[in-house]
Amino acid sequence: MRKPLIAGNWNMHKTVAEAIEACRILETLVQDDQVETVICAPFTCLSALAALGMKKVKIAAQNMFYEEQGAYTGEISPVMLRDVGCDYVIIGHSERREYFGETDETVNKKVHTALKFDIKPIVCVGESLEQRKNGQTESLVTSQVEQAFSGVDEADAQKIVVAYEPIWAIGTGETASAEEANRVIKIIRATLKNLYSEEVAANIRIQYGGSVKLENIKELMEQSDIDGALVGGASLNPETFASMINYKSLK
Ligand code: PEP
Repeated sequence: MRKPLIAGNWNMHKTVAEAIEACRILETLVQDDQVETVICAPFTCLSALAALGMKKVKIAAQNMFYEEQGAYTGEISPVMLRDVGCDYVIIGHSERREYFGETDETVNKKVHTALKFDIKPIVCVGESLEQRKNGQTESLVTSQVEQAFSGVDEADAQKIVVAYEPIWAIGTGETASAEEANRVIKIIRATLKNLYSEEVAANIRIQYGGSVKLENIKELMEQSDIDGALVGGASLNPETFASMINYKSLK
């Protein structure tokens, strides 16, 4: 049985004080312990959020470097993320791929070092609008998943969360329909089955991300293969985000 995981990706938003305030509200409003709740905060907020000692909300970074330490000015290592109490880290978000030179190769290196330091990767995959129009969605996400999981053994593979985030749906207000998101996520699960086994694939959580909001989260979460959501804009307001986590109470 896969426990749903709903993660808020705050992107480059919130000061430390704003982050603390938002998490305090979330801790009060989140009801459902059947849903794992994660906040992916800017690096500058992570220690302050860990110090809150939250019971219902886990913390994640939005990126990290694949080396443990060294002369890499401006980078943050998995050792540092573990040190501040991060449970998860987003790896390979499309914005990192587009603006900061992230490749399938660096995604795979980051996956390996995150796992080495017991930080669970949330690996993002997804196609651009052009790739979708050219009929490349299936081959692209399959290849991204194969490369991200390359060299990862069965036990570690089950610690990884995959986020299917079609680039054309991120921050645009355009969402893949629940059926279409589920269809692509099934392809991702079939890829994991080919790489490992049916049992391993059935244990790996796959989220949908891309303009998930209060109005569509319930329908998305009701799909057979969607195990959670990676939520950008709509996670910034803690009241709204808490209602999304408590989606089972929505009409
Ligand atoms: C994101 O930032 O990863 C994201 C999915 O954003 P939004 O929910 O705003 O589309």
